[in-house]
Amino acid sequence: MPAHKKKKAKKNKRDFAGELLKTVRLLYKFYLTTPHWKAVRMRRLRAAHFQCEECGEHKTILDVHHLHYRSLGREKNKDLKVLCRPCHKDAHAKS
Ligand SMILES: [Zn+2]
Ligand SMILES: [Zn+2]
Repeated sequence: MPAHKKKKAKKNKRDFAGELLKTVRLLYKFYLTTPHWKAVRMRRLRAAHFQCEECGEHKTILDVHHLHYRSLGREKNKDLKVLCRPCHKDAHAKS
């Protein structure tokens, strides 16, 4: 294969991975807008008594963090963790 063609093939492969990641992120973003996720999120917030499970903060915006994405769409309470924004940021910085 001529050198210039080889280079192009490599680039296409990288673009595909990038596109795939973009699509996955988009799907995840969409999932977070579904009534299903909103119900799961509310159930989890209630279970945590509307408090951050890391620092106990409750007078703030709380996120429901995925400990992993293996059960996406059928999350159990143990798959999720209620975190305030700073603790949520820390959780993602670690992983
Ligand atoms: Zn916190
Ligand atoms: Zn998270």
